[in-house]
Amino acid sequence: MKIAIIGAGIAGLSAAYFLQKNSGLEIDIYEKDTDIGGLAGTFPFENTYLEKYYHHIFTHDGYCMDLIRELGLTGQVIWKKTKTGYFSGGIRYPFTTPFDLLNFKPLPFLDRIRFGLSSIFISWYKNVGKLETITTEKFIVKVVGKQGWEKIWKPMLIGKFGDNYNKIPAVWIWERIVQRFRSRGSGGKDEVLGYMKGSFRLLYQGISDKILARGGKIHCNSNVQEIIIEKEYCTGVIVNGERKAYDAVICTPALPVLVDLCKTAPENYLEPLRKVNYDCTLVAVLVLEEPLGDIYWLNISDTEIPFAGVIEHTNFIPASEYNGKVVVYLTKYLSPNHELLAMDDAAVINKYYGELQKVYPQFDAKMVERYFVFRDRYAQPIWPMRYSEIKPAYKTPVQGLYVANTSQIYPNDRGMNFSIKLGKEVAEALITNS
Ligand SMILES: Cc1cc2nc3c(=O)[nH]c(=O)nc-3n(C[C@H](O)[C@H](O)[C@H](O)COP(=O)(O)OP(=O)(O)OC[C@H]3O[C@@H](n4cnc5c(N)ncnc54)[C@H](O)[C@@H]3O)c2cc1C
Repeated sequence: MKIAIIGAGIAGLSAAYFLQKNSGLEIDIYEKDTDIGGLAGTFPFENTYLEKYYHHIFTHDGYCMDLIRELGLTGQVIWKKTKTGYFSGGIRYPFTTPFDLLNFKPLPFLDRIRFGLSSIFISWYKNVGKLETITTEKFIVKVVGKQGWEKIWKPMLIGKFGDNYNKIPAVWIWERIVQRFRSRGSGGKDEVLGYMKGSFRLLYQGISDKILARGGKIHCNSNVQEIIIEKEYCTGVIVNGERKAYDAVICTPALPVLVDLCKTAPENYLEPLRKVNYDCTLVAVLVLEEPLGDIYWLNISDTEIPFAGVIEHTNFIPASEYNGKVVVYLTKYLSPNHELLAMDDAAVINKYYGELQKVYPQFDAKMVERYFVFRDRYAQPIWPMRYSEIKPAYKTPVQGLYVANTSQIYPNDRGMNFSIKLGKEVAEALITNS
């Protein structure tokens, strides 16, 4: 049986890995880009690699850790405590420990206590079905109050969903808080974050090496233009203008790409899938000679600043790993028509320099040795309310066509861990149905 997989991101690679592990299927992966990795992709940097978009993992990322173990890479994972902060009203506040929360001046004192207790309340909350029908904003205002929402959660939501921050079903935040709360343990243990020595390229290269060793093929620069559907049977794909026959196809890019590729799928299947929008991401990577501060992840609460977070990667992984260079990511999720997306790299960077100086007054453009700007159109799904009612299954009504994309991670938070889960489960669905 011959299988085509569209996309060599974490989900596509994982799907191939688990298909091969559990069957003797013949597999071709088609990736439109020049390299594998998708949103977790990397670029060469100072004799090693660096993610285009900052990445870390959590101790509760079970699918990811299991796969890392299977690949014999557990020893390559570094776990570390990091510092978090908030920039609010022109001041940087540390926000890592309960003590930091107690001293967080932008919030009235009683609201700080309320905020501190909110994770316990949320983890006890049982009416999860209701959370599919109300927004995160409505739920969080009820739990932490208006100030707690405005000063802490809203900036975080803007950081994650851009202008769509107030449309996200509350079940998403519930799921996220419950997972993080449980992973810290009831004793409120400090959270540690994980990274791989030499970047997460080690993970996806490890998967791809296994795929190739087992006889699978990965074709980069291979843009799939159509999924061929004849009389409700999927019979292959058109890649770079060439028709190729397959017994089954797994499609891993975002839903709008799937809808576009399935030109002849039944309309009643495609119609609900059009209800999911996606934010773009725009991330600038600055390479500096000196550190900005000691915070790894700084949320920006002040809305006039055009980026939502300053992530000083070298406060997590030391600059010595990069020949002493300091790496800073400036991150933002944007609606597709946002003005920043129409600007070229130099214009974005120019705009950002002055704003970064407001956050770190000692910053000077002269400190920047190099910069990179990365963008992706389909970075973050924006699910409608009650998405579980229309969330597509792995197996589609088209015989032989399977889908596994970031929209199906709902209500969980998008991340490599759940893309590995997608890959594993879509492989199981295909094997069970063939
Ligand atoms: C700014 C940012 C920060 C992040 N931080 C973290 C983090 O800290 N930790 C974490 O775990 N996760 C993080 N993530 C999320 C993580 O990167 C993604 O969840 C994961 O990589 C998604 O993998 P995927 O395979 O499901 O999708 P994708 O990576 O989107 O893969 C889809 C692939 O399909 C390809 N493709 C699309 N159309 C076609 C076509 N027509 N033909 C052929 N190929 C096609 C694309 O090029 C892509 O390679 C972050 C993401 C972003 C954007």
